[in-house]
Amino acid sequence: MSTDICVNFANRQFTGEETAILERAFSVGVTHCIFVATDLATSRVLSDWKPDSGRDDLPTCRSTAGVHPHDADSVEADWYEQLRSIARKPNVAAIGETGLDFNRNYSTKSNQRRCFDAQIELAHELQKPLFVHDRESGGEVADRLANAQLAGVVIHCFTGTEEELERYLAAGYFIGITGWIADKKRGTELRRLIARIPLEQLLVETDAPFLRPQNASIGTSTTISQHGLSGAVSQLTYLSSLTPSPHTPHTAAKI
Ligand SMILES: [Zn+2]
Repeated sequence: MSTDICVNFANRQFTGEETAILERAFSVGVTHCIFVATDLATSRVLSDWKPDSGRDDLPTCRSTAGVHPHDADSVEADWYEQLRSIARKPNVAAIGETGLDFNRNYSTKSNQRRCFDAQIELAHELQKPLFVHDRESGGEVADRLANAQLAGVVIHCFTGTEEELERYLAAGYFIGITGWIADKKRGTELRRLIARIPLEQLLVETDAPFLRPQNASIGTSTTISQHGLSGAVSQLTYLSSLTPSPHTPHTAAKI
């Protein structure tokens, strides 16, 4: 039993394969999935998505509602009101994906900050956890979160520095780890840091269809690969000398 806290289920690569993907995920022990939204359209679709009813061989799925920093430039004038009404739905487990990405800067920094602050406020108002993307914000994500009274914060796909990790852990945030850790070059620092993350604050995510672990089978970029997911979990298990259950689902259940 485990939870994948980040599936980009609305991604075009998954179109037409939705049920098959969930069947495969369930077959390798994924009992809960969080579908992560990146804009208003995906927030709406994912919050309305219903799995085949009456089946007990699919994961339980909930979604997030939010605007990704990459999409901050393209929001409509009334985006906040629209997001607010979607985010109130019971199936929406968290607000996001939101945050700051100063690595790619697909949206201007000022728009990213504006969207992020608004979603921090929304998470506070609805008392739902915040699902956060932080890529090279230089501590600004942590600064902006510092005074917010939130139900929980997930730093998804953590790839930051030791200093950033310590700050997030001290604040009580959850840390999401993806297949990035299995990347020979990019994952070096993360492999060193993972032992610092207490089990109660560690979450596992595929970020599918992105960030496949290195040992995933070739030709499965459009699916959650059985080998890829179990490979990621076993790598994490090995690296942190943990067993993958039962802690992960318990922690993730708080999201
Ligand atoms: Zn992200």
